[in-house]
Amino acid sequence: MSWRFKILNGKDTELYSYIKGDDFLEIDSSLLQLLKENEQDLYDLINYRWGLILETFNSTPRINKKVKIMDEREIKRSSLNKFKSYLDLENKEHKCFICNKKIEDHLSIDHVIPWSYMYSDDVWNLVYVCQTCNSSKNNRIPTRIEIIKLIKRNKNLLKCMEDNGINNKIYDELKISIEKDYVNKFWTGSKS
Ligand SMILES: [Zn+2]
Repeated sequence: MSWRFKILNGKDTELYSYIKGDDFLEIDSSLLQLLKENEQDLYDLINYRWGLILETFNSTPRINKKVKIMDEREIKRSSLNKFKSYLDLENKEHKCFICNKKIEDHLSIDHVIPWSYMYSDDVWNLVYVCQTCNSSKNNRIPTRIEIIKLIKRNKNLLKCMEDNGINNKIYDELKISIEKDYVNKFWTGSKS
C-alpha cells in the first residue's frame, strides 16, 4: 500500500487507515463499493505497473502487451501481406529463407524469431518461407546460421529500400533495428 493512493483529485483523502507492521488495514465500506465498480480499470493499472517492474530486469519485449493479451485471452494477428512489397525488393525470386529453394506456390511470410516471443510484426524479423519449411518450423528458436543470414538480409533490404527511395516508418524501423542490433538481442532473449 502506498501513500500515493491517499491523494485523489489533488485532495488528501482518508481512503484507508493502516498502521505500519499491522497485517490488516481498515477501509470504509462505501469505498469498497467504489473499488468494486472500478475493478477492471484497477486491474489493468496493477498489471501495467507490474509490467513496468518486470521490464526493468527482463529483456523480454512488450511485457505489458503480453500481460494484457494473456488476460483477455485474445490474440489478434494481423495480415502480413503489407510487408510483401518490401520483402520483394530484396527477394524478388521468392527464395525460401530456410531451404533456399524458389517458392513456386504457397508463399508464406514467417517470423524468424517466433511471434509467440515478439508479439509483434517487424520487417526486420519477417522472411519468405516455403510451405514445407513453414510447417516444420513452428515456434522453434532460430539457429545461429539463420540469425547471421537474417542480419545480412536486413542490411541488403535497407540498401534496396534506399535505392528505391523508400523513406517511411518501415524504413526507419529497419534502420533502427540494425543500429540497435535487435536481431541478436531478441534472439539471445528468446533463448533464455
Ligand atoms: Zn523452404
